[in-house]
Amino acid sequence: MTHLVTVLGGDGIGPEVTDAAVRVCQAVTTADQITWTNASFGGNTFLEEGSAFPDDTQAACKESSAVLLGAVGLGETLPPGAKRPELGLLELRGALGTFANIRPVKPFPSLFDMSPIRPELLEEVDILFVRELTGGIYFGEKTRTATTASDLCVYTEGEIERIVTMATEFSRDRRKKLTSVDKANVLETSRLWREVTSRTAKAVCPEVELEHLLVDAMAMYLLKRPADFDVIVTENMFGDILTDEASMLCGSLGMLPSASIGEGTGLYEPIHGSAPDIAGQGIANPCGTILSAAMMLRMSLGQPDVANAIEAAVEATIDAKVLTPDLGGKATTKEMTDAIIKRLG
Ligand code: ATP
Ligand code: MG
Repeated sequence: MTHLVTVLGGDGIGPEVTDAAVRVCQAVTTADQITWTNASFGGNTFLEEGSAFPDDTQAACKESSAVLLGAVGLGETLPPGAKRPELGLLELRGALGTFANIRPVKPFPSLFDMSPIRPELLEEVDILFVRELTGGIYFGEKTRTATTASDLCVYTEGEIERIVTMATEFSRDRRKKLTSVDKANVLETSRLWREVTSRTAKAVCPEVELEHLLVDAMAMYLLKRPADFDVIVTENMFGDILTDEASMLCGSLGMLPSASIGEGTGLYEPIHGSAPDIAGQGIANPCGTILSAAMMLRMSLGQPDVANAIEAAVEATIDAKVLTPDLGGKATTKEMTDAIIKRLG
């Protein structure tokens, strides 16, 4: 069966890093297996077409087995009052029905010294974050007067059940440890979160060991004993903050992949932004996007062996010190990508 993959390069370094990732995938898959289509999306598309997520792009994404995204954002160059291209991203997630953001955090030993955390604490770190994407304070009703503002935080039992079910299934296939993060000492939504999580995790897989931690404690433990965690599941805002904190365990923003999955088509993208400061220079680190493509091959395209091979080639390239400037090297995006392709075996 041929899978259709829609590639949304987006803005800034987005197209540079998605091109690199597609080249890597094409080196280990055939045209019978995957058909790649580019579609327009993001800030530049908004300026040209008046929409960040045009109808034809929407149709292409919905038809695809997976979407590979570079980055969106034009920095400060958007006209005042313009609808921000980040909204294109929300519309995209909505159109695909994604409700979970998955971020693996597994530092590469050759990059330990890029992290502000001591190397001996990083040795066994292998965390999978599962962040809820559709509920919570970001999406609740907002009010504003001149002197008072409010953001409503809402969660339903169903939203919690589906994210915890997914997180428990990931733990079952990993080290069978699940950490749920909330603020149940003060928030009602967190008390519901905790109840539903306990019941759901037990029903999905009783062998998974579940612990509950408060988000403030978690922020500290992530730096103090990061190797103790396997799968971490949490609500939208806590996940937003904790995953950025965790990215520092890996040293560079340019290394980290992510997947947004749910009911239908999966969306795969690096965690970094459009990096307008280095766009067009050919020096962007392509690894976050290449590793996102590996997640896509594993989770949406049924090719786990190819995904493993790509991840191994990225690690071997880092070990061989073929590195872009953000990692302290002198290689261009193309040179680092070529070095990865060469190591695909
Ligand atoms: P956006 O508004 O799109 O989020 P930003 O400038 O806020 O953009 P990033 O784009 O993530 O945030 O960039 C933050 C810093 O990290 C910048 O200095 C950028 O050059 C650097 N950076 C981000 N991604 C990469 C990458 N893949 N390779 C090298 N440097 C990167
Ligand atoms: Mg940013």
